[in-house]
Amino acid sequence: MNSGKLIDGNAIAGKVLNEVSVQADQFSKEQGRPPGLAVVLVGEDPASSVYVRMKIRDCAKCGIESFSHKLSAETTTGQLLDLVDALNRDRQVDGLLVQLPLPGQIDTRTILDHIDPAKDVDGFHPRNVGRLVRGDGEVLVPCTPAGVMRMLDEEGVDPKGKNAVVVGRSDIVGKPMALMLLHRHATVTICHSRTTDLAAVCRSADILVAAVGRALMIKKDWVKEGAVVIDVGMNSISREEAPQLLLDDPARIADFEKKNYTLVGDVSPDAAQVASLITPVPGGVGPMTRAILMENTLKAANWRTN
Ligand code: NDP
Repeated sequence: MNSGKLIDGNAIAGKVLNEVSVQADQFSKEQGRPPGLAVVLVGEDPASSVYVRMKIRDCAKCGIESFSHKLSAETTTGQLLDLVDALNRDRQVDGLLVQLPLPGQIDTRTILDHIDPAKDVDGFHPRNVGRLVRGDGEVLVPCTPAGVMRMLDEEGVDPKGKNAVVVGRSDIVGKPMALMLLHRHATVTICHSRTTDLAAVCRSADILVAAVGRALMIKKDWVKEGAVVIDVGMNSISREEAPQLLLDDPARIADFEKKNYTLVGDVSPDAAQVASLITPVPGGVGPMTRAILMENTLKAANWRTN
């Protein structure tokens, strides 16, 4: 039996951020201003507030100027559209993202469709989605699946000819992930909540990507010996919900003592015993998503000014 090597998402993300820093510096010298990212947060959702703070910190780390806009939880679709319009026109702003989820009274799709596709660093605008489907070159693509592809490349995993199984079909992770693997010539299966015998489909995967949002759902015996496992899931569980496997891990115990929860993926960590490569949670896909956001901002800045 293998003992799967952990893919160090923090290290690869660090490499991406260094590359972005060097190029952002070059951009600043040429343009007389740094690349700019506008981040819009509506309401007080604690997780969203943390994500926005981290994105702003990443900008500072790699020489990207951030423009933070915080709106009240009562903001209407019309008011948010006005802000998006203004940021679309703002020449200092190269990238624009509206943190999701938005409060219920706001029509999320209308907002996302209104962002200038050239500034759409999340890659959610239909024009960018269409370009991804077609496999066009210069396109802003969603950060999480792009981060996964970069990890595979860094680890020397070529998807060509491999069976790739993506569990989850959301617009932000599952679907674009499947398309990116397809463009790299994998044979791709997409699974979802109505898939029959999910365990058997997962066992057919040379590359298994889990993007479900269900803590530890994918068990060790769902993973083929030697498979590459990418765990996108981010779920917080309490000590009471934790299986023995986690309670035997000193890092998890420390988490429970500090904050009474720990962050786990969709894949049971003991799958590492059969996988050839596997991403940990935390420290796997999460940091890559943030790093690719910086890379997308730089791309948008370069494309807009060239
Ligand atoms: P969504 O809730 O939008 O999608 C979840 C998908 O999983 C759906 O397609 C759903 O199927 C499928 N699913 C749910 N239950 C099952 C089941 N029992 N069996 C098979 N499939 C199932 O989630 P997201 O795609 O937005 O996110 C997925 C996970 O990734 C979450 O944990 C999220 O926190 C995490 N995430 C992590 C990021 C990172 O940077 N690390 C970034 C983005 C997300 P159906 O369509 O049929 O409902």
